[in-house]
Amino acid sequence: MSLPGAPGGQPGPQRSADQSSTITEPALAYAELAAGNRRFVSGSPRHPNQDAGHRAAVADGQHPFAVIVGCSDSRLAAEIIFDRGLGDLFVVRTAGHTTGPEVLGSVEYAVTVLGTPLVVVLGHDSCGAVQAAREVAATGVAPEGHLGAVVDAVLPSLRRAAADGVDDIDGIVDIHIAQTVEALLEQSSVLADAVTRGRCAVVGVSYRLAAGVVRPVAAVPAGVASLDVPDGPSTPAAA
Ligand SMILES: [Zn+2]
Repeated sequence: MSLPGAPGGQPGPQRSADQSSTITEPALAYAELAAGNRRFVSGSPRHPNQDAGHRAAVADGQHPFAVIVGCSDSRLAAEIIFDRGLGDLFVVRTAGHTTGPEVLGSVEYAVTVLGTPLVVVLGHDSCGAVQAAREVAATGVAPEGHLGAVVDAVLPSLRRAAADGVDDIDGIVDIHIAQTVEALLEQSSVLADAVTRGRCAVVGVSYRLAAGVVRPVAAVPAGVASLDVPDGPSTPAAA
């Protein structure tokens, strides 16, 4: 793949070029993310699409292959943990990956205007937003300021966990991730329609802070996260 030169007439480096921008299949998009996470976990990231040549190439338009609806936690940087670069991921982050109107609008923009085939809800162990909601539920003391909005958005997941007999924080986190997947589809008819038509899928994954591994915990349609492509479907073997 030939990349245009960087400003100033010097050709940009081409070591990280790939065809991820052409991915339109939800399962292939997930496989690409999974492959990048494996590179990150193993300590051999390629840092694709982060060079000056690619920066210039994507300046005129973007075709991200995945939307990430992630927690704002500082240890959860999407492009790092999935080993991706500029133009690859459309990232929306809030504490506890809560889904207000602006989040829904951002997801719908990516899915309908940019044609992004995959939405990933990215949660993690030891999530502070879930812990804060748990504390509020236990003490009845509401937090100050707008933090209450985050807590309110997480409380339904706590109630579901209690109904299911789940009491450990990581089990509650998994339920909250699955609940967020459901919330996106319930609150956005635009997204639900894209999923029904097979143009998009929604996958919830749980990230472990220490190990760096992501694990799917929910998927619509089911099975979309099961495609196992060892080296990713479109990234060259050597970069
Ligand atoms: Zn968190």
